[in-house]
Amino acid sequence: MDLKLSYSLLLVAILSISCSNSSSNNEGNSTNEQQYQDCSNCNGTGIISDICDNCDGDGYVTMTCKKCGGCRSLICPTCNGKKAVRVECGWCSGKGGQQCILCKGTKINQCVVCRGSGTHQGSTCPVCYGNGYTRCDMCKGTGIERCPVCNGGRSVERRCNDCSDEGRIKCGDCDDNGRTQRECDLCSGTGHIKKRCQTCDGNGRI
Ligand SMILES: [Zn+2]
Ligand SMILES: [Zn+2]
Ligand SMILES: [Zn+2]
Ligand SMILES: [Zn+2]
Ligand SMILES: [Zn+2]
Ligand SMILES: [Zn+2]
Ligand SMILES: [Zn+2]
Repeated sequence: MDLKLSYSLLLVAILSISCSNSSSNNEGNSTNEQQYQDCSNCNGTGIISDICDNCDGDGYVTMTCKKCGGCRSLICPTCNGKKAVRVECGWCSGKGGQQCILCKGTKINQCVVCRGSGTHQGSTCPVCYGNGYTRCDMCKGTGIERCPVCNGGRSVERRCNDCSDEGRIKCGDCDDNGRTQRECDLCSGTGHIKKRCQTCDGNGRI
């Protein structure tokens, strides 16, 4: 008897607990479901990932090359667009010439006809007019043998190797249309931006 009674009491107790639980739960759920639902637009997060308007979802934007202004080429920095550069004359090492090796810079040479005596066959030497010396033919009386390559100018112009006679070099920063691609600032290159869900106003529930 005792056992049966206690069992039925227990049963009642369980029923009443489960009953009260389920009734309260049902009530709660039904009111929540009527008033709030997870927003299906954002899956309840309140945030949606949308394609970036700035880059159309590419993650990068294409723009006119800043470096060359879209020309695709730049003025050659080596020759400054002149297509040629002046370099030290290699022939004379930039000296422009050297002391005449014949007159050793004296500009005159001993007369070869009278050998410096000034007289030839008993009379005044017709070549040096009795001076015994003549103007140096090799340096034309300058005492300096001018460099035949730079003609005494010390430097020579040579073709610019860097731009292959174009005066301009390829920009290198841009494509064939003079445009460059840059990571989109707005989405940091992801192509997507996170926006507050407008359906639920960012609450995640509606
Ligand atoms: Zn939402
Ligand atoms: Zn973007
Ligand atoms: Zn460029
Ligand atoms: Zn150049
Ligand atoms: Zn002479
Ligand atoms: Zn000379
Ligand atoms: Zn020279």
